[in-house]
Amino acid sequence: MKQNDFIDLLFPEAFVKKIDIKEMTPCTADPDRIKFLAQADKPLGEVLPILYLSIPNAKYSEKLEALTYRYKQHLVTMFSTGRIGMTYVKDRNEAEQLVEEAKNLINRAFLHLKTHGKPTSELIGAKKELDPTKIYEKLPKTNCKECGEQGCFAFAAKLLNSEKSLLDCPPITTEKYSASKTQIEKMMQPIKL
Ligand code: SF4
Repeated sequence: MKQNDFIDLLFPEAFVKKIDIKEMTPCTADPDRIKFLAQADKPLGEVLPILYLSIPNAKYSEKLEALTYRYKQHLVTMFSTGRIGMTYVKDRNEAEQLVEEAKNLINRAFLHLKTHGKPTSELIGAKKELDPTKIYEKLPKTNCKECGEQGCFAFAAKLLNSEKSLLDCPPITTEKYSASKTQIEKMMQPIKL
């Protein structure tokens, strides 16, 4: 039995069971694509901070109780009410697949909440203050351009935006910079689901 299934037996109310697609409309950026709104059968307020800390490019507003992030080419928005929106979707099939993937991700966050508790405000604050300068400080700073960027600062900005991956910087994957690589990963993704 998987850990998820076991906890589901102990706390049947702990997980999202269903996310229903409520509305599909043409995508504003491309009318050949659709955007959709869906509704989870459970509020998501408790897991939004966990999702924020586990998705490197996520933005989180406590005031709006909303999380946004890029997943592949889609912009995803999740609200504490359980409302979920996604853009730039091919068709209904892709929408259903994306909803299933979102459900799995959300339930991994609920499992994390059950097993580790709520994340501290310090952890959330540190991620909110993360900017390209803080990442740049940990990069090799040689401006070697092996990543295809003009230099390490440009790379840091794209890394924070998820337009680049750390693996695109060959020097940081070497033994010499392994501690820096771990530090950057922890700064961008303090929780791994
Ligand atoms: S490959 Fe790495 S070290 Fe070289 S410029 Fe890009 S970020 Fe800097």
